[in-house]
Amino acid sequence: MLACLDLEGVLIPEIWIAVAEKTGIKKLRLTTRDIPDYDELMRGRLKILDENNLKLADIQEVIGTLSPLEGAKEFLAWLKSEFQVVILSDTFYQFAGPLMEKLEHPTLFCNELVVNSDGRITNYHLRQPDGKTKAVTALKGLNFQVIAAGDSYNDMGMLKVADAGILFRPPDNVIEEFPQFSVTHTYDEFKKILVDTRASLVKR
Ligand SMILES: [Mg+2]
Repeated sequence: MLACLDLEGVLIPEIWIAVAEKTGIKKLRLTTRDIPDYDELMRGRLKILDENNLKLADIQEVIGTLSPLEGAKEFLAWLKSEFQVVILSDTFYQFAGPLMEKLEHPTLFCNELVVNSDGRITNYHLRQPDGKTKAVTALKGLNFQVIAAGDSYNDMGMLKVADAGILFRPPDNVIEEFPQFSVTHTYDEFKKILVDTRASLVKR
């Protein structure tokens, strides 16, 4: 049985929001809730970085000052002792790197930034659209049972195709729209739901 976990909001802070706070650039706080078209949102972010002369190394420096959410490291260590764990994220390897080190390098499937020789981020590359859902579908195709957990709209596809889905600290509108999923707010509760979910899947 596999546990597939979202990254931002579940184990680490939202990276763009943290970068917005640390750099004081308010426009970087915009998310897919404000601009639903992801490509438009990302192009806007890259433009803002350019306008402020921020290169990849500057963003990595900011990200390097961030920590995983309180209790996340211990939770992930426990999770790895109980399940095979794959982290499925819409972020980029170049951003996640400094935080992955603090989480002891779990398996991470995410995307790639395109960076030129000056260190400017010129583009981004998604391995495929809706990668989280496709990853869970593919893992099920290898005859794994999958429990998926996440906190936001971009996780709902993978939660739906998984054998069981869990919401961790989701916003209220997500809880209302997706009442079929268990909701948890602390890592202790999360552990209990994972163990109970595994027991009910084994019985099937
Ligand atoms: Mg998230």
